[in-house]
Amino acid sequence: MGILTNRFQDNIFFASVDNVINWSRKSSLWPETFGIACCAIEMISAGCARYDLDRFGVVFRPSPRQSDVMIIAGTVTKKMAPIVRRLYDQMPEPRYVIAMGTCAISGGVYNTYAVVQGSDLIVPVDIHVAGCPPRPEALLHGFVLLQEKIMKERVLRAEPNTKIEETVDHG
Ligand code: SF4
Repeated sequence: MGILTNRFQDNIFFASVDNVINWSRKSSLWPETFGIACCAIEMISAGCARYDLDRFGVVFRPSPRQSDVMIIAGTVTKKMAPIVRRLYDQMPEPRYVIAMGTCAISGGVYNTYAVVQGSDLIVPVDIHVAGCPPRPEALLHGFVLLQEKIMKERVLRAEPNTKIEETVDHG
């Protein structure tokens, strides 16, 4: 019983700390200032006064080393793909990716040898925002979905049957 109580208290503690960490992460998402093609115009609009991404804590940063979100806004050509991957690799963890527009999601109308047929072939994509181009409201919705996803992440809480649970059992 004592072990169960301790485990319950640990889970409550870890869940509370997770909530604080996740809340701070989702409230300060900093995307790279980085656009590839026409979808980037809609992304820029979303950051301007009319749509005002800042009110969600979304502030564009000039360097991947200061960013935790990559918005792939445009057509990813095979020539551009290594650069997109390098920018992703330069971002610190935890990092998230939004594929904005049908070109970024699947290559769109450019079913050619020169275009990557989906950004998830080069980086792990968290959120897909459909459209050609998606309106700024759609990108806002994408950020809200990303925030919901971040709030469900487990930072400290152990999954069932993990080593921490076993340690409590035998402790
Ligand atoms: S999805 Fe449409 S608007 Fe966006 S980059 Fe492709 S062609 Fe341009």
